[in-house]
Amino acid sequence: MGLFSKDIKTMEDLYVHGLQDIYYAENRILRALPKMIEKTADGELKRGFQTHLKETENQVKRLERVFAMHDREAQGHKCPAIDGIIREAEDVMGEIEDPAVMNTAVIALAQAVEHYEITRYGALMAWATGLGHRQSAKLLAETLKEEKATDAKLTAIAERRINPRGDKSTARRARKKTSGRKTPAGKKTTRSVARRSASRPARKTTRRKSAARRHA
Ligand code: FE
Ligand code: FE
Ligand code: FE
Repeated sequence: MGLFSKDIKTMEDLYVHGLQDIYYAENRILRALPKMIEKTADGELKRGFQTHLKETENQVKRLERVFAMHDREAQGHKCPAIDGIIREAEDVMGEIEDPAVMNTAVIALAQAVEHYEITRYGALMAWATGLGHRQSAKLLAETLKEEKATDAKLTAIAERRINPRGDKSTARRARKKTSGRKTPAGKKTTRSVARRSASRPARKTTRRKSAARRHA
């Protein structure tokens, strides 16, 4: 930033500054993801991060295409926000030993990264559209879609397999969702059958009660 003048004068300047900010952030994420993969003991989570690492490599290239469309050299501008999010993630991961606690933590820490990216790409896409850069907006939208999908995938893994062990309300919600789910052979799963027989006596009691009311 200039000492006597302000560098961001127009919307176009703000847009380019935003591109440089996210270009720095994506490159920083590229360096941080292998550490998160290493800390994760859960196979599905590990694979998810590996997929996103490949996507991130492609997102960097996509941003380079956007810079080229504007006849600019791809250049990063230091982003203190992503530096802070990643530093915090590394600090927290460094304090955890238990693998189950680590998996839960890593998901939340990674989601902080995804949410930052979602806010930036959302704004950049809107600005590109407003400035008439339709092709750039399209490319930015592709990345935004990937960041949102990654965030949703992390939420799904947490709710389905990782958080339930420690969070009873989440486990209850997950059970409700799977209730009545059938196996490919059309049979109810053992868990749902067990649950049904467990709830049967309660239903009988209700029926008996209403029958008694009818007789009265
Ligand atoms: Fe990204
Ligand atoms: Fe930033
Ligand atoms: Fe991402």
